Amino acid sequence: MKSKINAFMKEIEERNGHEPEFMQAVQEVAETVIPYIVSQDIYHGKNILMRMVEPERAVSFRVSWVDDDGEICVNRGYRIQMNSAIGPYKGGLRFHPTVNMSILKFLAFEQVFKNSLTTLPMGGGKGGSDFDPKGKSDSEIMRFCQSFMTELYRHIGPNTDVPAGDIGVGGREIGYLYGMYKRLKNEFTGVLTGKGMSWGGSLIRPEATGYGTVYFADSMLKTRNDSMKGKTVLVSGSGNVAQYATEKATQLGAKVVTLSDSSGYIYDADGIDAEKLAFVMELKNIKRGRISEYVKKYPTAKFTKGKTPWHEKCDVAMPCATQNEVDGDDAKALLSNGCFVVSEGANMPSNLEAVHAFLKAKILYAPGKASNAGGVATSGLEMSQNSLRMNWTREEVDGKLKEIMKNIHDACIKYGKEEDGYVDYVRGANIAGFVKVADAMLAQGV
Ligand code: GLU
Repeated sequence: MKSKINAFMKEIEERNGHEPEFMQAVQEVAETVIPYIVSQDIYHGKNILMRMVEPERAVSFRVSWVDDDGEICVNRGYRIQMNSAIGPYKGGLRFHPTVNMSILKFLAFEQVFKNSLTTLPMGGGKGGSDFDPKGKSDSEIMRFCQSFMTELYRHIGPNTDVPAGDIGVGGREIGYLYGMYKRLKNEFTGVLTGKGMSWGGSLIRPEATGYGTVYFADSMLKTRNDSMKGKTVLVSGSGNVAQYATEKATQLGAKVVTLSDSSGYIYDADGIDAEKLAFVMELKNIKRGRISEYVKKYPTAKFTKGKTPWHEKCDVAMPCATQNEVDGDDAKALLSNGCFVVSEGANMPSNLEAVHAFLKAKILYAPGKASNAGGVATSGLEMSQNSLRMNWTREEVDGKLKEIMKNIHDACIKYGKEEDGYVDYVRGANIAGFVKVADAMLAQGV
């Protein structure tokens, strides 16, 4: 089996060149899905995984815009339309200086499996730009978004491809992007999700990724007759996902002791309660400041510069920042400090060494494509509401989100339960996600 997987990976490397993040995401899927394909006559010999690894379409385009000093700036924009077997392409836009083909292809590939797991009819895609929003004025952000959309609009549509936010793209950016799309197309449609409440957005969408990650952790704990109550939790990041993971974990009786950003992490032994979280939300979402400001306001907390939180003691870890933020050493530290639940809010935050360490230790480990699927699932609910031209209540959307997260958990158990009862959520999520997309692709022909 190992040689089959290696041969598959070699072919992909030859075709794609140096794309380390994409190779990593494919490897993680190949390790679990290739043995399954070989064991199933309906999938065997159809080259089905190779077809899934090749984007249906990938566009890259120039985005030029004028900064506040009148300088002309040039960035690169992308949209990867990975797979539309089960629905229109769906997935976020990321604005970050590290964005390139490898990162977007890994995200788009993960998105295909994640969206399939949600049970909603959404294919997978991802896009973005190497534009760095840090330090840019509001009008620079607006001009960039407008220029970005003047090309992107040709490739998207409410039944074709529906982008949303990701790192560096929140409510403000979705607003500017939507305004430009509407101007170009002269139509008011649900072409983007994560919209404002007064113009087609869904209640609970801002909360959904973080809430879903906590719901998933709670479901995993339930399999061991346990719950989030009383747990000490490490959260990384301090953006949208981290904020609402902290809120929900606290509501369920856990104590969140860390948050972070690219400058370092804060540790608050007393827990980041609702009042402290409100301070973080204002700091990050309105003032766009650094997390180190937290210790000025709450001096009993400590700030550790340039480090991630993974060497602190905890029961539960929720990486909610970015890819590869947990490496093999971090995994070792987490395990030796008593961590027995990892629920990923970010996409591929654990590198392969860390994933293997968590599985070997047989802890409750949920890969992002399962545990953070609540965000895109609620985007799917926003699309449904837009099509119906109506709005569901908070309770209705939250109820549907909870049910979807439970279904994803059940699907992971169905395909991931081992003989000794341990659930390998990586195998479970990959195979459950794969089956639905593969069946649709086979039915639709080559
Ligand atoms: N960027 C989010 C994700 O990684 C959400 C995508 C969406 O809502 O379309 O799943």
